[in-house]
Amino acid sequence: TGEMPPRKRVLLKVSGEALMGSGAYGVDQQTVERIAADVAEVVRSGWEVCLVVGGGNIFRGLAAAAKGMDRAQGDYAGMLATVINALLLQNALEGQELPTRVMSAIAMSAIAEPYIRRRAVRHMEKGRVVIFAAGTGNPFFTTDTAAALRAAEMECDVLLKGTQVDGVYSADPKRDPSAVRYEQLTYMDVLSKQLNVMDAAAISLARENRLPIVVFNIGEPGSFPRVMREEGPYTRII
Ligand code: UDP
Repeated sequence: TGEMPPRKRVLLKVSGEALMGSGAYGVDQQTVERIAADVAEVVRSGWEVCLVVGGGNIFRGLAAAAKGMDRAQGDYAGMLATVINALLLQNALEGQELPTRVMSAIAMSAIAEPYIRRRAVRHMEKGRVVIFAAGTGNPFFTTDTAAALRAAEMECDVLLKGTQVDGVYSADPKRDPSAVRYEQLTYMDVLSKQLNVMDAAAISLARENRLPIVVFNIGEPGSFPRVMREEGPYTRII
């Protein structure tokens, strides 16, 4: 009696590149603030929101390895890049009066809580926005896989993948004018057609856990709240 129905929970994956705005490297403050405002709107509409942030705007292990760096070492540097982004996002979310916690997969106790699943769930139940930093904490993984992993652990209803395009296309829409956007795809379509959405590990994890993925353009102001109201454009992967 009197028990509140559980609120719906979403994990938003914000790529590092999404934070660059129109720049070519690093972080555009205005863009971060705009994304924070979009997150605030979704929180105020009643969703529990958590975020996984990438680091590709600062450092990528794979790109460094291509130039001769040790891959694992580069990946650790990449994970640290995600922590920088997480702190900037946290700051912007606090500017929106949202209570937030950064939880890092790599211990960094002076600036972030360690990732503890049950504590993260508790934060979300209390209405805090949790930012998951440092990916999975392991080299050779991506923040997309971290997003699928955390979304499964948090029992999210949906995983939103914010990109620079408004969904998944049959070809690169910037190069091929005949490219069409898919409304809906299966996990298997993405894997077998090798569509460049998320890496195979992330897609497989989502598939095993029946976690729907929605791909949308986070560069478009207001797109996150719109997609949460099921207003397109987007591509749904189920
Ligand atoms: N990374 C890693 N393990 C993880 C997540 C990330 O080693 O679980 C490293 C990897 O080097 C990656 C970098 O962190 O290139 C930045 O993450 P990602 O490229 O996924 O960021 P995004 O493309 O979303 O900006």
